[in-house]
Amino acid sequence: MDYIIECKNVTYSYPLAEIPAIRDLNVSIERGKFYGVIGENGSGKTTFCALLRGFIPDFYKGELQGEVLVEGKKTTDYGGELSAKIGYVFQNPFTQISGVKETVFEEVAYGLENFGVPVEEIERRVVDVMQMTDIESLAEKNPFDLSGGQMQRVALASVIVLEPDILIIDEPTSQLDPEGTESVFAIIKTLKEKHKTIILVEHKIDLIAEYADEVLVFKEGRLIASGDKQELLSDLSLLEQGAALPQVAILGSRLRERGLPVSRIPVTEKQAIE
Ligand code: ADP
Repeated sequence: MDYIIECKNVTYSYPLAEIPAIRDLNVSIERGKFYGVIGENGSGKTTFCALLRGFIPDFYKGELQGEVLVEGKKTTDYGGELSAKIGYVFQNPFTQISGVKETVFEEVAYGLENFGVPVEEIERRVVDVMQMTDIESLAEKNPFDLSGGQMQRVALASVIVLEPDILIIDEPTSQLDPEGTESVFAIIKTLKEKHKTIILVEHKIDLIAEYADEVLVFKEGRLIASGDKQELLSDLSLLEQGAALPQVAILGSRLRERGLPVSRIPVTEKQAIE
């Protein structure tokens, strides 16, 4: 199996924390798959993301046991190259915008400039990504003079343009209206079609059901379940443990429990209609 990321016996505590934020984590991430990460607030999802991109223990310090491997190499043995391999999209796009560029075009180009990419290549890649993320009409606007959905698309563009193999996206739609959410997921769908390895933290379980291949469920710092979304999102025992499941899956499972011949439990509305 081609694992792009592996966590082996990982336990991590933030400095001065009494209990670990991540406990006994063993998980392997397959290249090219889309993982949805779910769990209650404080269950360790953001800490998990920080572990994968090497921010733990480098930035947050604290005590790390076990190892996190990206393409077979420990995150602690990487220098700056890890940030070229793993793109991270923040929950709040304000955090992503550099604040030093006056137009959206320059903002999207900024990371490539920092990596010393030749000017013609920067132009080409920025134009392509702006088209893909549907922000061409915003090229001359100030990055802070945008709606939430537009700003999140710019934030995504500024990461995608770096062509990372792995994208970690932390609740990209938590501050967006349905229209903004739809436009962001149109981009995520394109990334999926390009077979990027995607790790998405998302509260909206219906979006996980629609887009993810695999689901990881965290609770109190532990990975309590992981596996194929179809099976996992119809497992009612997870509901008892506090995990959100799609309404159609809950209904399908309950109908089956009552003896109705439901051949496959639907996890999306589309599947339910079929
Ligand atoms: P989630 O993303 O699922 O909401 P987090 O990974 O943010 O969960 O948090 C996991 C645990 O670690 C929580 O108990 C939280 O309070 C704690 N925590 C998160 N960030 C820090 C930090 N920078 N310093 C200390 N404790 C933290």
